[in-house]
Amino acid sequence: MEIKFSDRANGLKASEIRELLKLTQRPEVISFAGGLPAPELFPIEQLKEVTTKVLDEQGAQSLQYSTTEGYLPLREIIVNERMAKNGVKTTVDNILVVSGSQQALEFSAKLFVNKGDVIICESPSYLGALNAFKAYEPEFVEIPMDDDGMEVDKLEEALKNNNNVKMIYTIPDFQNPSGKTMSIERRKRIAELAAEYKVPVIEDSPYGELIFEGKPYPCIKSFDKAGYVVTLGTFSKTFCPGLRLGWICAEEEILKKYVMIKQGADLQSNTFTQMIAARFMQEHNLDEHINKIIEVYRKRRDLMLESMEKYFPKEVTFTYPKGGLFTWVNLKEGIDAAEVNKEALKQNVAFVPGGSFYPNGGNKNHFRLNYSNMSEEKIVEGIKRLGEVLKKFY
Ligand code: PMP
Repeated sequence: MEIKFSDRANGLKASEIRELLKLTQRPEVISFAGGLPAPELFPIEQLKEVTTKVLDEQGAQSLQYSTTEGYLPLREIIVNERMAKNGVKTTVDNILVVSGSQQALEFSAKLFVNKGDVIICESPSYLGALNAFKAYEPEFVEIPMDDDGMEVDKLEEALKNNNNVKMIYTIPDFQNPSGKTMSIERRKRIAELAAEYKVPVIEDSPYGELIFEGKPYPCIKSFDKAGYVVTLGTFSKTFCPGLRLGWICAEEEILKKYVMIKQGADLQSNTFTQMIAARFMQEHNLDEHINKIIEVYRKRRDLMLESMEKYFPKEVTFTYPKGGLFTWVNLKEGIDAAEVNKEALKQNVAFVPGGSFYPNGGNKNHFRLNYSNMSEEKIVEGIKRLGEVLKKFY
């Protein structure tokens, strides 16, 4: 076949992680590679009950087309419960329901980025976002992180040195992949810098509510006086990812454009799952459900970190995440985590090598571990085996 793809499509590469995840599907593999929630926590019985009610009482409406902006009761819940909890006062006119925050990431690049424009991101950053952005052929400027998240003085320098920055992308809470959280001071500063340089900030926060200790930090958007911050939320990690429900919270002028893009992409998010989710949240308490998730993940995190202390070579360092799904492991310079992963797979353990989280390459001596999706026994056994593998590299 002689088929001519667009330049954009020619530039697309299959995600290494997708390939790797295929290998980890074998039941004997203890996989710390994915980022999946614990399926045993999905509220299946309660969902059965509310789904029947939706079909009995609002059946035709739930199976019909509906508005692009999203199902109004769900948008009201997002405003009054989820965004309010994150310190953001907003209205339904600032909310667009999307098919997971992944869709919002793709839309953001489509909305703000021309070929060759600069996207500023954290180093490392979420691979799924980087891949979505790459279709729009940007340049990436990576900003290093310390224990308080993106280093804002370096962000300011990058804004000064590049006159075609179109978007700042950040994951402030329990970042994927590093597990780090941005300090409140830096959140304020990013909101100020966005206004000063007139550059939108895409604040991607799927994990903010999965907090194991301390108080949740307010969203960057809560410090946004000038309207440059776009916050992305999702029910994937606090409820069920299969429903594919997320949202964009932005100033009306920006949101209107997202609505037009959404119309072109898929007209609207799934009416049925929006109504099921809204009904669930009207009749049950999502905060209680989130608390159950937190308890399970906190134990798994504790066990993973304790096991790493016990079984990893002492020179290996890692993040102590205060929430979310991931910890990030730093090996000494010169060790390639992809090579470690090959050896680990022989012992039926898997993780994601860190290289692909850096859009401009390099940084091969890191890897990401997920603790939400494996049982406590498997976490201990997997980390023990990984410790043995790592010792061969030290
Ligand atoms: N952003 C980040 C940082 C993520 O880790 C993920 C999922 N792993 C997403 C966005 C996409 O999530 P969803 O589309 O399920 O809302």
